[in-house]
Amino acid sequence: MSDQQKQNAHPPEFYTFWVHCNICYRMYFKKECRFFLLACNHVACEICLEGHLQQTDVYKCNLCLKITKACEIGNAMPANLKELFHPEPFSDGLNAFRVMAFQNKHRQRYFAHQETMASRLEEYQRLCTEAKTNCQKLYQDCENFRHERKHLENRAKLIRQQRRQIDDNSSNKTSSVSSENTSASSLAGTAITSFSNLSQGNPFDL
Ligand SMILES: [Zn+2]
Ligand SMILES: [Zn+2]
Repeated sequence: MSDQQKQNAHPPEFYTFWVHCNICYRMYFKKECRFFLLACNHVACEICLEGHLQQTDVYKCNLCLKITKACEIGNAMPANLKELFHPEPFSDGLNAFRVMAFQNKHRQRYFAHQETMASRLEEYQRLCTEAKTNCQKLYQDCENFRHERKHLENRAKLIRQQRRQIDDNSSNKTSSVSSENTSASSLAGTAITSFSNLSQGNPFDL
């Protein structure tokens, strides 16, 4: 392959981006685990097949529930199965109709999943925006309540001060009245005393 051809060559995932586990939608090109083609034409990763082994290379398909033979996807596959993953289905010697039907079915399944995920993402984004708006509203309400509380606290403080002032004034008045009363009593006392002194001296005693 020339350098120019190498530059134009697509990465391997370009040809196999549609190959995915039909159960968990893990992608084949990420090479995270082994993938199998089942005789029911479903593709599954080894993680999804775990626990479904019936006998050597025979699994119960999690999608159609058929007991089927499985073949690991890779270069060691038999030619009649390997051609299903060929990047150019119309190449000579291939059953183009069979290959295209297989690949289209898997592409459609993959795109449908992408669409579901995209609409789910859109829904999450809508919920996030809604939650953000609610949070902003709650924050604004809190701020308003905080201002209102501050205002009421200042008002309460002012009322307490005024009340203290009124109390002080009235206690001053009370003490001045009582001191006036005391003076009056004392004057009366003096008068009485004087009178009694007079009595003691018996000024009328002729
Ligand atoms: Zn899987
Ligand atoms: Zn199946």
